[in-house]
Amino acid sequence: MSKTVLLVEDDRELRATLRDALQVEGHRVLAAASLADARALLAHAADREGIDLVLLDLGLPDGTGDTLLAELRRERGTPLIVISARPGEDQKVRLLDAGADDYLVKPFSLAELLARMRVAWRHRGTHVAPATLRYERTGIAVDLEAHRVQRDGAEVHLTPTEYRLLARLVRQAGQVVTHRQLLLDVWGPEYTEHTHYLRLYMAQLRAKLEVEPADPQVLLTEPGVGYRLAESTTD
Ligand code: CA
Repeated sequence: MSKTVLLVEDDRELRATLRDALQVEGHRVLAAASLADARALLAHAADREGIDLVLLDLGLPDGTGDTLLAELRRERGTPLIVISARPGEDQKVRLLDAGADDYLVKPFSLAELLARMRVAWRHRGTHVAPATLRYERTGIAVDLEAHRVQRDGAEVHLTPTEYRLLARLVRQAGQVVTHRQLLLDVWGPEYTEHTHYLRLYMAQLRAKLEVEPADPQVLLTEPGVGYRLAESTTD
């Protein structure tokens, strides 16, 4: 399914590589080398077919990508993935809080980029409901409708809090969810600083669900930022 991607990247070589790769995947690519270029393309596209996803570099010759993210989030819910060389943990959290769908640290593989784009579309796109009610990966199956968690076909018993935490991650499978967001949604607004709750409950979930809890393949840590449930293998 062909989509229009706005690529904002001032590195000429990377811009050309990404543009070609995305075109091979069947997407239409609008490429911008600066914030000014990006704003012009956005204004133009708004009257026409629109833009389905923005890939945004942060260090741009006429400013930082953060400003464009803020402008976009005020106006529309277009999926947006930040691509950046060395974002700090604080910066990652700030970008996610500001409404970025995800971030990729350069250098990243094309496969990684395409996976993140697919996830962003799944969560913001039209076919949201089915994908977010069922989750499946490496023997773990979660059915939010039936309120059921299984591992290798056997029922897994979770405490209510463990289940709420897992369900929150399933609803955004494939994307990073910040500590603050998880604490807010699972425990409530007065608990957003209690990151030790998360560490404790994630350890419990991993013990019940991961093949090797010490080397998690599904419940992934994003250091200093939050957690990411590996992308579901069902669609
Ligand atoms: Ca740059």
